[in-house]
Amino acid sequence: MKVGFIGLGIMGSGMAGNILKAGFPLTVYNRTRGKAEPFEKLGARVVNTPEEVARQSDVVLSIVTDAPDVEQILYGEHGIVKAEKKGLIFVDMSTNSPDFALETYSQLKERGIRFLDAPVTGGDKGAKEGTLTIMVGGDEDVFKQVEPVFKAMGKNVIYVGSAGKGQALKLCNQVVIALDMVAVVEALQLSRSMGIEDEKLFSMLSSGAGNSFTVQYYMPKIMKGDLEPGFKSWHLKKDLKYVDDVASKRSIPMPATSLTLQLYSALVANGLGEKGTQSLIKLYDKLVGK
Ligand code: NAP
Repeated sequence: MKVGFIGLGIMGSGMAGNILKAGFPLTVYNRTRGKAEPFEKLGARVVNTPEEVARQSDVVLSIVTDAPDVEQILYGEHGIVKAEKKGLIFVDMSTNSPDFALETYSQLKERGIRFLDAPVTGGDKGAKEGTLTIMVGGDEDVFKQVEPVFKAMGKNVIYVGSAGKGQALKLCNQVVIALDMVAVVEALQLSRSMGIEDEKLFSMLSSGAGNSFTVQYYMPKIMKGDLEPGFKSWHLKKDLKYVDDVASKRSIPMPATSLTLQLYSALVANGLGEKGTQSLIKLYDKLVGK
């Protein structure tokens, strides 16, 4: 199976690297070409447009940012659909709304392109190490065809159901990781205010019931003052907005998630959108007057 990959950012660079390591012939495109060039040395073909990726591939995976970016690579000038390749499989692995996935599924079906939504969790660490969890929505026969490629990038590949269901499950994950970050940051503020060393809090959480990926991966970054992104704050704000839309449409009250969306909106408004989600600590520092 010839694989195409679009979007070699924090996540995509690790994921594409693992597809190459698994031995799939790979064609890559990144809007900023400089990020694609290292892949040439690793044996990938680097091209200049999404349309060229589609021409060279049986399945095209993308992990860009938001819905308008997926639309850009699909329908923009030199977008994927310009290749008019019937039978092509297109997989969006960005985090997006379930409604957008459903709409994309229908629009591409009319053009003879099969679509899967397959967002991921596991962070930049999981992307590099090939240990992502991947949640897939779409037709099961198409999922079966792409499953070997998913397995090159992830250790837990879950077929959830019809189009949009991968994104739906991913939004549930975003609720948990967002609230966990709030919990870790609030616990840090409380422990610091009582004169407890950060290391003591970390040690206790690590071996107790409060342990989590956020504790293990992001708390040490907060302790070192490292705000660089594994996961950008404005991406989490985007995801929480999608959660809010889905929940309010169904009258599901999610007060804690709504509050967390407001916190991340404030963080972005304070110029920290491009920093990692752990930069929430800076907002709380402001709240306590530091
Ligand atoms: P990132 O580092 O900002 O990378 C985004 C990539 O998308 C870049 O390669 C960028 O190209 C490309 N892109 C954006 N808009 C584009 C457009 N209109 N046309 C073409 N290319 C475009 O972000 P990331 O952290 O890899 O996240 C990517 C997606 O995965 C997001 O939906 C995010 O929510 C999701 N996600 C992230 C994580 C995480 O921990 N980071 C985990 C799970 C899911 P340029 O290089 O030219 O900017």
